[in-house]
Amino acid sequence: MSTGETKIGGEFELIRQFFTQKTHHQSQVDLGVGDDAALFRIASHQQCVVSSDLLISGKHFFADVLPYDLGHKALAVNLSDLAAMGAEPLAFTLSIGLPKFDEAWLSDFSCGLYELAQKHRCDLIGGDTTRSDELLINITVLGQTPIGKAIRRDGAQLGDDVWVSGDLGAAAYALSLLQEKKNTSLDILSSIRHRLERPTPRVDLGLALRGIATAMLDLSDGLAGDLSHLLKASKCGAQIDCDALPLAKSLHSLPCAVSWRYALTGGDDYELCFTAPKNKREVVYGIGQKLQLSMTRIGCLDRKDTKIRWRSSQNSELATSIDNWSGFNHFS
Ligand code: ADP
Ligand code: MG
Repeated sequence: MSTGETKIGGEFELIRQFFTQKTHHQSQVDLGVGDDAALFRIASHQQCVVSSDLLISGKHFFADVLPYDLGHKALAVNLSDLAAMGAEPLAFTLSIGLPKFDEAWLSDFSCGLYELAQKHRCDLIGGDTTRSDELLINITVLGQTPIGKAIRRDGAQLGDDVWVSGDLGAAAYALSLLQEKKNTSLDILSSIRHRLERPTPRVDLGLALRGIATAMLDLSDGLAGDLSHLLKASKCGAQIDCDALPLAKSLHSLPCAVSWRYALTGGDDYELCFTAPKNKREVVYGIGQKLQLSMTRIGCLDRKDTKIRWRSSQNSELATSIDNWSGFNHFS
């Protein structure tokens, strides 16, 4: 049904101007924006990998965030989910609810979106556009992996190492500085803000870890909560060495309890956390070197109880209190 009221003025022109790709990177896309539905082919011996994320103004981003960054992040969080499965991106759809028709905003938003899309050869093939009181963005991303090769959460084995890519906590730190709005921290904020607003999806790492990682997920809600999802799915427990956590440089001057809190219960890092057999250590370090991304071994799967035992030789009391910290939970 179309009442006319939910449509943005010049909706089709808007879609043509900002959300129609002239050509596609993927030969698997046969038909993109413009018909009732898009068409693309699944290559033989491949599984289609699908993930979707909804971003709501005021909840997942500040209403005044730069539209370029928002376009980037809306796609980045979806690509990060594909990365976490070891999947190759193919295409995505964009459904957007806009409070108003703002040409400059749309132009910047689509620039941020397309730049990242192009980098990963991921084509915009359709979507929906409507007027809404709040700005809403939903992206559904489509990817592929050879059948049976996706890296799921339930494949970790007792004795495996636990790894994380990159470093942790900068995005959560940036978020808290933005919320505090203290003038004294503006310098730090400007140096780490991009970690919150323009995260890098680890797509190449996800692909490189096919056949090596036994289980994997991306860190969107903080390591403590996210790792426990993997452990529950794999029915394993882990011992994690807090002294080994790759804390972001910007956290180094903070008290230990604060920096651990950002790294373990903050969100938006979009690094990958994965498990791999001990005999793959050199291979994992080699992949990190090739991708110029640090790979840190933070612990191992030592029991079958699905719990995390936090250890630290320097702050053992603090480590044992981590279990009482709450992770980020949308319904808490
Ligand atoms: P329908 O009425 O069949 O749902 P629409 O009028 O909503 O079609 O959309 C027309 C075409 O534009 C479709 O191909 C749709 O996939 C595409 N489209 C609409 N909004 C967007 C968007 N935000 N980004 C990309 N494609 C879009
Ligand atoms: Mg529609």
